Amino acid sequence: MSTELNNTAPGSEHVIFNPADSSELGRVRWSTIEEIDRAVATAAEAFPAWSGITFKQRAQVMFSFKARVEDNLDELSEICSAENGKTAAEARAGIIKGVEVIEYAASIPQLIAGQYLEVSKGVTCRSIREPLGVTAAITPFNFPVMVPLWIIPLTLCLGNTLVLKPSEQVPFSAIRLRELLLDAGLPEGALQLVHGGRDAVERLAVHPEIKAVAFVGSSKVAEIVYNKGTGSGKRVLALGGAKNHLVLLPDADPELSTSNIVDSFVGSCGQRCMAASVLLAVGDVQRIVDAIAEKTRAVIPGKDTGPVISRSALEKITGYIDQAERDGATVLVDGRGVRGEGHPAGCWIGPTILDNVRPEMSVAREEIFGPVLSIIRTPTLEEALEIERNNPYGNAATIYTQNGALAKRCAESFNAGMIGINIGVPVPREPFSFGGRNNSRFGYGDITGPGAIEFWTTTRKITERWGDYKIAGWIS
Ligand code: NAD
Repeated sequence: MSTELNNTAPGSEHVIFNPADSSELGRVRWSTIEEIDRAVATAAEAFPAWSGITFKQRAQVMFSFKARVEDNLDELSEICSAENGKTAAEARAGIIKGVEVIEYAASIPQLIAGQYLEVSKGVTCRSIREPLGVTAAITPFNFPVMVPLWIIPLTLCLGNTLVLKPSEQVPFSAIRLRELLLDAGLPEGALQLVHGGRDAVERLAVHPEIKAVAFVGSSKVAEIVYNKGTGSGKRVLALGGAKNHLVLLPDADPELSTSNIVDSFVGSCGQRCMAASVLLAVGDVQRIVDAIAEKTRAVIPGKDTGPVISRSALEKITGYIDQAERDGATVLVDGRGVRGEGHPAGCWIGPTILDNVRPEMSVAREEIFGPVLSIIRTPTLEEALEIERNNPYGNAATIYTQNGALAKRCAESFNAGMIGINIGVPVPREPFSFGGRNNSRFGYGDITGPGAIEFWTTTRKITERWGDYKIAGWIS
């Protein structure tokens, strides 16, 4: 099995594999550039009617969509799990998080009322939010339902139309989401799906009709899409990769921090932009490190975790572990060669812990995107903070301590944009915005919450005078 053997030319048929057992799940034809242009034109034709109804009417579609996603939760979880490899429970949890965004979108009419003020006697200013037009979204493989749901309900409910290009590795969840949305009352043209890889993304990034692009994926591609999109006059919010650090202090609650740290780096087989990657073990925390290793050894791939997405991802992850070993790291728990229970084939790796990692090693600096925890020992908190602050990413960071003052200090001095205090996957839930900093985010705004309302709309400011007023204080 190798998705890499697939022809990547627009118009060619692409095979989608189940990463758990390498079986073929189905095929999707990649859109040609002409088909992408047609999808954009269709979304542009749908825009006047869709943007012409009220926020409240669009919110009704979101209420129906939420009900349909919930009614079809088992089926959606199965699709997501089959194409991505997540366990059924992980797939379900991601979808439920996505449903929170639909709920937030459905509440937009309550959030979006504009401002109105009499600024001089008889003169009023008001501002109203308006949609931008055709928008585009490009999403990664690791959350086939949740990441599209960060984007679809918000841009649509705000009155835009959307062209979505899901990851070529997991197209089926997005296809099902669109069916559910159309069933909920969305006009056909308002959400267009296109399929493909680099050619499709590059066309969307520069298409003159598209006003704004949301991208979620690796930092390398995020930067390319940001530069191309902004270079052609668009708004672009491009979320990139991550290298999340957890700081463990000797006074941390041993039980809580142990299970929290293991869940953070093992969950979704480490393929989460919020996953723990580096554990900065400060001072004498050996008993907690021992407990983390013990709990990790008890994880059963195939039952507690899924596989990674592809053969090439597996090779990349094992390559990082091999390199760290050659560089002098201690392999405390070794997941190389471990197969998923009941799965003779597939892209399996067990959770792995590397100890005595040094900050200059590649496992300490680069995004691995697999179930690998690299432990760097530091004698002081200051040194730990220095390492976190020197990393070029900025998605998430966590401090484990029972000391409120130290927790506050870390939270305020970390490099990352999303901070956990005794929480290893510090995802801000609705109504808070999700988004990191530095190389984890190119552009302004956030992908969800109030930052997304700002990103997907523009404001119109109207200053008006009616009646026969003598205006004393008017400045013009
Ligand atoms: P990826 O960058 O390989 O792909 C993302 C999207 O870009 C896909 O739709 C893909 O088709 C397209 N693409 C791939 N290569 C391209 C190229 N050269 N030019 C143009 N388009 C290209 O990412 P992935 O492997 O699908 O997902 C994993 C990455 O996403 C990780 O780095 C992870 O940290 C990141 N991620 C970040 C967040 C976040 O919120 N910051 C959330 C989820 C995932």
